[in-house]
Amino acid sequence: MDKTDIKKIEFFKHNIDEQDIARANDVLRSIFLTTGKVVDEFETKLAAYVGAERAVGVTSCTAALHLCLLAWGIGEGDEVITTPMTFCATSNSVMHAGATPVFVDVEADTGNIDADMIEAAITEKTRAIMPVHLYGQLCDMKKIRKIADKHKLAVIEDAAHCIEGVREGVKVGQLGDAACYSFYATKNITSGEGGAISTNDPAKADLLKMLRSHGIDRSAGDRYTKLYRHWDMPILGWKYNMDNIQAALLIGQLARIEDLWKQRDAIARRYEEGFAGVKGIRLMKTVPGCKHPRHLFTILVDPKRRDEILTKLQERGIGVAVNYRAVHLLQYYRERFGYKEGDFPVAERIGDATISVPLYPKMADDEINLVIDAVSSVVR
Ligand SMILES: *Cc1c(COP(=O)(O)O)cnc(C)c1O
Repeated sequence: MDKTDIKKIEFFKHNIDEQDIARANDVLRSIFLTTGKVVDEFETKLAAYVGAERAVGVTSCTAALHLCLLAWGIGEGDEVITTPMTFCATSNSVMHAGATPVFVDVEADTGNIDADMIEAAITEKTRAIMPVHLYGQLCDMKKIRKIADKHKLAVIEDAAHCIEGVREGVKVGQLGDAACYSFYATKNITSGEGGAISTNDPAKADLLKMLRSHGIDRSAGDRYTKLYRHWDMPILGWKYNMDNIQAALLIGQLARIEDLWKQRDAIARRYEEGFAGVKGIRLMKTVPGCKHPRHLFTILVDPKRRDEILTKLQERGIGVAVNYRAVHLLQYYRERFGYKEGDFPVAERIGDATISVPLYPKMADDEINLVIDAVSSVVR
């Protein structure tokens, strides 16, 4: 086969449509580009969708996690329990706040933090648990909340993969003190870069709004729409505010989020059928009673062959990714904390075996079949 005959299947395609672009255009033609009414509208709609009292728009999920740690008073000398099976943003945010990430190994079937191992990692310095809903599937939040209450810890959910998730009737963010979302370029809804926090604590939401704008006590929108008054800066914050252009891109996608999820769910089910019984492929499990957001679809292969399979799939034009190699084995973490192979064996096993395949609503039928055929034959 000639190289030019190879049909390229992108790893990801976003879902920004003409209406979203028109809405962003309206903002660009208006006078007010930064945090204002359009951000307010998005925040109200996001809070309604996840069933939270309030939402706060920021520039990224990393910023959201960082600000939540600050808002819940976590910093120097404190420890935060999290998972090594995640993107490094999760544990990096703990260090941004001046605190120390403490890893707990994950469940082999889901890749989510193993709630039964959390208590053993709690010390007198522990202040919070930061669970990550890996690939979108919610962690065991009932267990995690119980542990947090017993030890008086905050729970800050990394919900970068999970705006749509429900588990045993519990929605994302419902049992946490706050949940942090990402609108990065490859996430379920996107503005290229962007993030948000949901919380049921209105006082914390107000504090988060100050913290996203340097700690200033009046927003740019207020300063613009109301008569000029001097503002003050009672606390030190960061520059993490979402702007009206980002919010305009997100409002329409949020309105379509259930439909987008259904399309991804249907593709994921076809993958599950297609890969069932293929020797050399193992799949992660969906916990019964879960609405799985299906942010990523991963397969597990023989770790000795993983990199070779990655290369061969790309040679066949199939976009792939690795989500994730265990965070504690990244160079900085090894050097700063002395982590080594064997420290979190379950996360390492997933990290060495995992391959993510394309999953997005725009995938055509023949593309889904092509991925199933190519992956099955390369693995065999
Ligand atoms: C993408 C991602 C983040 C970071 O999101 P940004 O918006 O890029 O900061 C954090 N955690 C997880 C699990 C992610 O996948």
